[in-house]
Amino acid sequence: MTYVATVGLEVHVQLKTRSKMFCASPVEFGAEPNTHTCPVCLGLPGSLPVMNHEALRMTVLTGLMLGCDIAPVSKFDRKNYFYPDMPKNYQISQYDMPLCPNGTVTLHDLAYPKDAQKNIASPDKEVHLARIHLEEDVAKSFHFETTTGIDFNRAGTPLMEIVTQPEINSPEEAFAFLTTLKQILIYGGVSDADMEKGQLRCDCNVSVRAEKQTELGAKIEIKNMNSISGVRRALAYEIRRQIAVLERGQQLEQETRGWDDAAGETFLMRTKEFAHDYRYFPDPDLVSVKTEGLVAEMRGRVPELPQAKRARFVEQYQVSPYDAAVLANDLNLAKYFETAAKRAKKPKNVANWILNDLQNALGAAGQRIDECPIAPEALDELVNLIDSGKISGKQGKEVFAEMFATGKAAADIVKEKGIQQLSDLCAIEVLCEQVIAANPKPVADFKAGNVISLNFLKGQVMKLSKGKANPQLAGEILERKLK
Ligand code: MN
Repeated sequence: MTYVATVGLEVHVQLKTRSKMFCASPVEFGAEPNTHTCPVCLGLPGSLPVMNHEALRMTVLTGLMLGCDIAPVSKFDRKNYFYPDMPKNYQISQYDMPLCPNGTVTLHDLAYPKDAQKNIASPDKEVHLARIHLEEDVAKSFHFETTTGIDFNRAGTPLMEIVTQPEINSPEEAFAFLTTLKQILIYGGVSDADMEKGQLRCDCNVSVRAEKQTELGAKIEIKNMNSISGVRRALAYEIRRQIAVLERGQQLEQETRGWDDAAGETFLMRTKEFAHDYRYFPDPDLVSVKTEGLVAEMRGRVPELPQAKRARFVEQYQVSPYDAAVLANDLNLAKYFETAAKRAKKPKNVANWILNDLQNALGAAGQRIDECPIAPEALDELVNLIDSGKISGKQGKEVFAEMFATGKAAADIVKEKGIQQLSDLCAIEVLCEQVIAANPKPVADFKAGNVISLNFLKGQVMKLSKGKANPQLAGEILERKLK
């Protein structure tokens, strides 16, 4: 029997604001526990929330980037439940009037895991969003051997919740969705979306049904995933598990599960009987939000998005779609490329240097592109020296290594080391004559029509010049002399 998996994601994104959602306490990852708190985010009686406008702006911007409708009027509601990490016993969230209903994320080929890119079921698939709403984060519990500690630094941090429609059909599509979303959030500057720091957290709703069955299977939720590859593994495990249950002729029940990454298994947390009733109601301490002004302001702050940047790199700089995608994947890499490419005669060659030599060197040095010792303009100068024939490609590699190690300019290194490509016609001609005289057999072969012999002769000229001859000129001269 064939089965279909249906997945919906709920993604929590920590916004990159300086202060918390409803108070002035700072937002900072990794600070000493319980140092960034105040009566509001500790939930002390009598304290009142004040809305963080930057968080509203960032959420509206995200809505615009993801093609959402922005609600003309939105409000905050109280989501009531008891948990030690939430001292008010309610979370301020949004219920029936979220800031951004609807929206779309288009899954790009290169957002899929590398091993799955050759086998994409629905290329350019659009995953629709149900909504984006804004809420406050809760505190963080740390479980020790016999006790639990709570850090309230995170309590009240602005959190955007992005909810998809159940339109994802494989672990690989979920991976591609999160990768694409993360990239857009970083482009917009609304979040660093670092899953290891908990800035992007994901709950997955997954059900399995027989292909010929129309209604969805029992919805099983996997809570609190904290890596994109973890989401992929958890879904793969859970889909297999659910199919195995159905194959045994058993029923699946609605339940909430956790993911044990080390064991590679999901485990039962609670069943439907313990489902919460949150008793949402409008927060009486907060006014509703009219978004007209915010939308007008944020329209001007929508950046060029990854998809558009990729297309423009192909069009404007003639780089391949693959190279454009790799460059646009990382906003800093894209900026580096564009600074270098703007003045380059052959931007495609600049892209090659960045994607090969530069990325290898950065990888080996354990550096990010924004720590690169070679400025983009300096890399462009090197590429120009090679393209104009002043130095050979091989010499270019030597100069590049020196540039990376010392930060010196290409022209200075060339001068210091006496690196030069021999482009003097007379000098190359002399070398060619020597090579022709010394190699009668290949010369005869070439004259008899064996074109490959010319490469051998060219190689000999290069050898004789100790790699300094301009290979193109050497080839031209040899050919002329052997006609
Ligand atoms: Mn939430």
